[in-house]
Amino acid sequence: MSNPSEHPTPPSSQDPVAVAQRLLRACVHCGFCNATCPTYQLTGDEREGPRGRLYLMKDLLAGAAAGADLAPLAHCLGCRSCETTCPAGVHYGEILDTVREHTEERRPALQRALDRVSEALLGARTPLATVMRTARALRPIAPKALKQRILPSTKGLRWPAVRHARRVGLLIGCIQPALRPDLDVKAAIVLDHLGISAQPLGPACCGALPYHLQAHEKGRARALQALALGTADELQGVTSTATGCTAFLRDYGRLLQDTDQAARAQSFAATVTDLAAWIDPARLPLLPPPLRRDIAWHAPCSLQHALKGALRIEAILQALGHKLVPTADPALCCGSAGPYSLRHPRLARALGRRKWQALTGASPALVVTANIGCQQHLASHGDRPVVHWLDLVYEALTNPDRAGRDSEYRADPAPPSRAS
Ligand code: SF4
Ligand code: SF4
Repeated sequence: MSNPSEHPTPPSSQDPVAVAQRLLRACVHCGFCNATCPTYQLTGDEREGPRGRLYLMKDLLAGAAAGADLAPLAHCLGCRSCETTCPAGVHYGEILDTVREHTEERRPALQRALDRVSEALLGARTPLATVMRTARALRPIAPKALKQRILPSTKGLRWPAVRHARRVGLLIGCIQPALRPDLDVKAAIVLDHLGISAQPLGPACCGALPYHLQAHEKGRARALQALALGTADELQGVTSTATGCTAFLRDYGRLLQDTDQAARAQSFAATVTDLAAWIDPARLPLLPPPLRRDIAWHAPCSLQHALKGALRIEAILQALGHKLVPTADPALCCGSAGPYSLRHPRLARALGRRKWQALTGASPALVVTANIGCQQHLASHGDRPVVHWLDLVYEALTNPDRAGRDSEYRADPAPPSRAS
């Protein structure tokens, strides 16, 4: 990676429980966070909001909640909307990770067993890809609701040769390429048009799937494997087409701080940005009026609250000439939240319905998002197409009218900063 000397010193190893207890002390119990918590909005139950969960987590860490019901922690989406709202800067996500790991043995055996089954089914890249290939073959005769969830293959798409001085590592993950094998290739083609070569890293799981299914050690082991892929000196950064994975990669410094790769993980994480940070809206073509559409934009929680990158994609979509229609409650989670929709289908469906209504009130032609889980989850609720924002950039840059006009896009002299 470029300039590792610019990166901060790795945090010293500390007892995670002590760290979480210190982070908890920042909470002043004002309850502002409840207003933007999806599960609190659904239930109106204080225990199902961030403030109630923080009280519970405080007791659990202090060993003062022997018989406590852990269901509110299980119901938490980990969306971190509460973190964005909190005026006191409480690191809710980090506290939740620590408490979930600390209390793993107390979860019901059935829940833990189901998580292991989910992990085995979703994490097995080859069987999942085979299922999806079969589904694509049967797509013409599939019911309409299912058709929406069977997404395109890589047919006719080729990964461009690595030919530019600017290079970004593009993680080829596990679930995302199985569900949408075209998307990583489209990202590489888009970047190539803009004077940036995407170097595939993997396929490899970033670790998010096992970690969020509470196999924390396995998640860290996968993260260490992915870390070994992404430290080539010629790369100027690392990204992925799934914001959930990108957010997890960006957290490697904290997640791997107690391993012998702590310094490397810290340097790696400092180069991770959302894919959109590599795309300058000012360099994109304005589409002719017939191709401009009314769009409802759904920023995944991983993008809004972890990567803080939603505005960049809005600017990209507007630069293409699309109109972003107003949507109610833009911070609301769609209920996908990684494997959450499998673990808590009732809550996930209820949140998905609310989100769909919020997105489609102004009758957009398309719903646009940035994470494969959200795309799939929203598509199951809807009556109109749900696409990835990259589909629209790809569509614009590969429009036949633009053939041979790549030289209009000059390369940026420097990789994007984390704040972009
Ligand atoms: S987490 Fe933040 S917003 Fe929520 S109760 Fe605590 S201080 Fe208030
Ligand atoms: S992470 Fe999301 S679901 Fe969990 S308490 Fe915070 S806002 Fe609520």
